[in-house]
Amino acid sequence: MAPEPTPEPVNPSPEPVEVAPAPEPTPANPFPPYPGCDGVVTEPGTNGRVPASELCDIWQDPFHVRADAAVRLEPLNDAYEKTFGEPLCLTGGYRSYEEQVRLKSQKPTLAATPGRSNHGWGLAVDICDYSYAGERWDWLKEHGPEFGWDNPPWARRGGEGPYEPWHWEYTEAVDALRAQGLE
Ligand SMILES: [Zn+2]
Repeated sequence: MAPEPTPEPVNPSPEPVEVAPAPEPTPANPFPPYPGCDGVVTEPGTNGRVPASELCDIWQDPFHVRADAAVRLEPLNDAYEKTFGEPLCLTGGYRSYEEQVRLKSQKPTLAATPGRSNHGWGLAVDICDYSYAGERWDWLKEHGPEFGWDNPPWARRGGEGPYEPWHWEYTEAVDALRAQGLE
């Protein structure tokens, strides 16, 4: 009886190569910095005294808002412009303490007490009347919060403050100020 054929030696499998686990995909930052605005706040200053280095230019001269608010507001404006064929029109942004004092003397009943306005933190903008009217209002109410911006409850009809549908704030940072007792 023929001997069993010796099985061909099986090549030992090569040493397993260490494969680094695939890194968790980093979700794309939906609110990336843009040229001239890193989106990061390191020195927020005080109301009406926000260092220029923390403020960013936005699409409408001469207005500025704080860097963290700006990187959310710019894409909101981009989306608005895609919808309505023109950018959101603004009448105000950051206000220094001196500008708050001047505004208070011009509009004593409407303007906030100097040093108390969220414009002084670079966290609010005022929108031109026609830019928030009608379907634009509906659009802003629906989409503004997706970008972290909203007309705050106090400024709404029946709210605790004056009715100011034009006044919009970067909610997250304003909430943080309020938690620190600074708003
Ligand atoms: Zn305002």
